[in-house]
Amino acid sequence: MNDMLVRAMSKDGMVKATAVYTRALTERARQIHHTTPVATAALGRALAGVSMMGNALKGEGESVTLQIKGDGPLGTILTVSDAEGNVRGYVQDASVELPLRADGKLDVGGAVGHAGTLTVIKDLGLKEPYVGTVDLLGGEIAEDLAAYFVESEQIPSACGLGVLVDRDRSVLAAGGYLIQLLPGADEDTAARIEGGIYAAPSVTDQLRNDPDPANLLRTVLSDFELEILETTPIEYRCYCTRERTERALLSLGSKELADILREQGGAELTCQFCDRVHSFSGEELEKMIDVLKKAGK
Ligand SMILES: [Zn+2]
Repeated sequence: MNDMLVRAMSKDGMVKATAVYTRALTERARQIHHTTPVATAALGRALAGVSMMGNALKGEGESVTLQIKGDGPLGTILTVSDAEGNVRGYVQDASVELPLRADGKLDVGGAVGHAGTLTVIKDLGLKEPYVGTVDLLGGEIAEDLAAYFVESEQIPSACGLGVLVDRDRSVLAAGGYLIQLLPGADEDTAARIEGGIYAAPSVTDQLRNDPDPANLLRTVLSDFELEILETTPIEYRCYCTRERTERALLSLGSKELADILREQGGAELTCQFCDRVHSFSGEELEKMIDVLKKAGK
């Protein structure tokens, strides 16, 4: 099954929910960044989470960034989604290896760190982006994300995220769900959601047996009648272009570009989100330096 996002609502109008299957895009991230299993799991959980947040945006061209800065060895995890749920991201140190936890699972919390911050930046095409930050709860990411919604957006939320890595380090299953109470929902609704989550198998166990994210929601929200509102294919998608890279080079100014030209004879810039390399010859750099000098920069 291809990567997919589904949006649903309970027929009683009290609950909205999103779920994703993200095996291929998580595997793509692993191949780009050469992540170790625990780094793959942390990055993959963040990518699944940000995809569901991105799909909740309203307008074309909008984007959401999820930045997790823990005190663990992974350093910062940065993920971005467009308004459909297509994602990109990286971890600061992709080479982190940690022993498995006592229960045999990858130690994502240990790799991320148990203290730090989770920041959400929504670029809605306005002058200033929306920024919300909360303290990390435990670094397992799903709980941290749910806490963000409760604290920063005042939306009671439950989140489950999972990445299962195979023995050869490739991604076997990945995805998650985000369940949110709508205004008017009562404590009974919240209790029924909690009960469903408690009774359901883990996200990775479910997606490994059945990759359809709609069925993941039907299992977790077994106590509700669901209406599937939208099914969207999602993928790992980077928006880097040669033009954008050129603008970044120009922003350095003529003096710095002249230094690069002298030292390297040209410029090769690898995108931090994907494996594309944008090359500029010495001649091209000279032209850019001329343009900048004429503009007095
Ligand atoms: Zn790129």
